[in-house]
Amino acid sequence: MKQLLTFAKGGVHPPEFKAQTAGLAIEIMPVPKELELILGQHIGAPCVPTVCKRDEITEGRMIGEVTKGLGVPLHSPVTGKIKNIGTSTHPMRMSVPSITIAVDRDATAPQYTKQDWQDEDAETLLKRVHAAGVVGVGGAGFPTHVKLNPPSSSPVDTLLLNGAECEPYITADHRQMLENPNDIVEGAKVILKILGISKCYIGIESNKPDAIEVMTKAIQDGADTDYSIEVQPLQVKYPQGSEKQLIEAITGRKVPAMALPSSVGVVVQNVATAKAVYDGVVYAKPLYEKVVTVSGKGIKRPANLLVKVGTKIGDIVDFLGGLQPGLSKVIMGGPMMGFAISSLDIPITKTTSALLFLAEDEVDTTPHSQCIHCGWCLDACPMGLEPKEIGIYVEANKAEETEPFGVFDCFECGSCAYVCPAKRPLVQFIRMAKMKAKRPQ
Ligand code: SF4
Ligand code: SF4
Repeated sequence: MKQLLTFAKGGVHPPEFKAQTAGLAIEIMPVPKELELILGQHIGAPCVPTVCKRDEITEGRMIGEVTKGLGVPLHSPVTGKIKNIGTSTHPMRMSVPSITIAVDRDATAPQYTKQDWQDEDAETLLKRVHAAGVVGVGGAGFPTHVKLNPPSSSPVDTLLLNGAECEPYITADHRQMLENPNDIVEGAKVILKILGISKCYIGIESNKPDAIEVMTKAIQDGADTDYSIEVQPLQVKYPQGSEKQLIEAITGRKVPAMALPSSVGVVVQNVATAKAVYDGVVYAKPLYEKVVTVSGKGIKRPANLLVKVGTKIGDIVDFLGGLQPGLSKVIMGGPMMGFAISSLDIPITKTTSALLFLAEDEVDTTPHSQCIHCGWCLDACPMGLEPKEIGIYVEANKAEETEPFGVFDCFECGSCAYVCPAKRPLVQFIRMAKMKAKRPQ
């Protein structure tokens, strides 16, 4: 095996807790009676509905588009009828505009046929990515067509596909790599063609040897002299899958503070986003389904589920047999970067990777105390920031003075809070500081 690479500074080794779902094949969840689609599924402007109440719609039809600003269209995941255009509870506990669809469960799913893409130019392929509503499904939902069109002042020479999946519990990308390796590799080729480059590395942590083997074979099977794609095994270290850490690990390049990966010639996409690009470009199938890991001791039956975007968490819980006694906390996303939710009446979005139902013994409820100046958070921070100072300033009502400690370079990985012996809620302090401090120009 090749040498295992990683980033130099900081990082932590939380218990993996992946065994519950790593061996479970992706299961297709039956469509519930109703879906609720939030109109702001991506970073940028939310969609404006292109349908009206009581409209009959078919699976794959556009139901929302962005009329100005950054964004992608939204498509119906089902055939059915528009029941309501109103508001829903957003995963971040806000009320947001949404479309509710009453599902026609007897409708036949559309057949998408394979289209030629090799002879199309980059502009046409980019338009197909946009038309399919593809966003970065492993992260914050940045529109993929924008990321694949970096400024000409930043020439790109390398594509990195992120298959690290370093967050504990989550195995959705792992399963995608095992079950759809050829699609991911072809998606990578589409992206390379759009970027006009040939070099791609697929970074996978060494705790997924089966994925390393399967992806390597898929690359060999689809060998193409126009493209140079290779798997790069990575050390198991959190947050290996964050953009800047992945770039440093694989290319040795360091993205400057506040800069984008393209500033060092790199574009990073998640492996699941490459699959969505494949579906969107090669089959003209819009992004309206999502593989979600459902795990934790608090759910009756853990699973990796393919669900329609807009499926309510409550419907997923019912499908998996309900909750276990002793449930303590529900998290949307991973335990390091996800957020706790207080209702199951929340829909899955294009960026939901996991739902964790954690029992009492999986949650640390120790109250936090004063900083003891041990410096562990400084050692753990992969960005070389000073989270302890940010926390102390926030508690002293001086959040607006935290910019010098690097608050805007923090990507909220949670490594600092994970190691803190005083259990200080450092990420919450940092989020508060970001709201009050002045961003450097
Ligand atoms: S949450 Fe921010 S400050 Fe804390 S370790 Fe991660 S990047 Fe550093
Ligand atoms: S790890 Fe916690 S206690 Fe130690 S210096 Fe950082 S904030 Fe203070």
